Amino acid sequence: MNVATILKAKGSDVATVGPTITLTEAARLLSEKRIGAVVVMHGQQLLGIVSERDIVKAVARMGVEALDRPVREIMTARVVTCGLNDSVDELMDSMTEGRFRHLPVIERGALVGIVSIGDVVKHRIAETVMETEALRLYITNS
Ligand code: AMP
Repeated sequence: MNVATILKAKGSDVATVGPTITLTEAARLLSEKRIGAVVVMHGQQLLGIVSERDIVKAVARMGVEALDRPVREIMTARVVTCGLNDSVDELMDSMTEGRFRHLPVIERGALVGIVSIGDVVKHRIAETVMETEALRLYITNS
């Protein structure tokens, strides 16, 4: 199972924001869309990623005034991405190593989706169920 399979099931929608929107606006978007991260874009250029953790950290550091700051000040600018052919296992390795739960998907330089740890776990479980069923059939038919 790979990223293309995951996107086929969940679609290619990605919540994006510009670098100047405030943390309050970003938090509102995360809450409305029930997601954990937004990708920061300038036109077609990927500038960074902001997750709920970044907002919590900023408020802990600066107090409520942080909420009026633009996301470009707190975003992670070195974004790790994945490609359509990457396997679920590769995504799990990447998320574990980088200690984050979101991976934007890039195809030919363009943002074509995002995969969260929830998507990865869901597909890994489905894969395990299929493998178990195949093994059960193999055992009962032999
Ligand atoms: P998360 O676990 O996704 O909420 O993110 C935890 C931290 O990692 C936050 O500081 C995010 O900005 C950062 N982060 C999230 N996704 C990525 C990514 N794909 N590449 C680099 N940093 C990321």
